[in-house]
Amino acid sequence: MRTLLADHPLVTHKLTLLRDARTNTATFRTLADELVTLLAYEATREIRVTATEVTTPVGLAAGACLAAPKPLIVPVLRAGIGMLDGMTRLMPMASVGFVGMVRDEESLVASTYANRLPARLDGREVFVLDPMLATGGTLVTVISMLRERGAEAVTAICLLAAPEGLARIEKSFPGPDVRIVTGAVDERLNEKGYIVPGLGDAGDRLFGEV
Ligand code: URA
Repeated sequence: MRTLLADHPLVTHKLTLLRDARTNTATFRTLADELVTLLAYEATREIRVTATEVTTPVGLAAGACLAAPKPLIVPVLRAGIGMLDGMTRLMPMASVGFVGMVRDEESLVASTYANRLPARLDGREVFVLDPMLATGGTLVTVISMLRERGAEAVTAICLLAAPEGLARIEKSFPGPDVRIVTGAVDERLNEKGYIVPGLGDAGDRLFGEV
């Protein structure tokens, strides 16, 4: 696994506002959306392209187009939905699959309640959206589902990550084809599996408590 920490001043600025307990839902959504677009810029740095040429009004220019097959974006329900628009804005040609995971608050074990993924993902690049990489349980499950379907490169975009979660992903996927792109690596997890200092429950802050 490779970790890319996007320690850009704009990312840190927006993350700081996002963390603030006083930030309301509407502003939180906007900030999450903007942050994803910034992180996606880093996350797509290695995306495969095909060389091409284009005729400008003045001459011929060498260029590049995203290679086929087209990438797949997978937001992890529920909180990952808050990152989807920011990602599709940058890659409108990508397909979107869904995985729904819910965490048992006692055992902290995540289980799958929804799965809408293509049967085969051979040769496709996949971008998983999950704002909080906490214990890593959710991401290990989702990446395993993608790998079973033949996905090669899997990049997870997380607004925040905990060292415990990063270590768990590294243990499960030591190779270079799994990448984590995050805006910050925080101190630790607390006894409830929340990232400290983190930003609280990302799903609740995006969509309200249900
Ligand atoms: N999920 C969240 O929403 N927040 C955390 O801190 C950890 C997991």
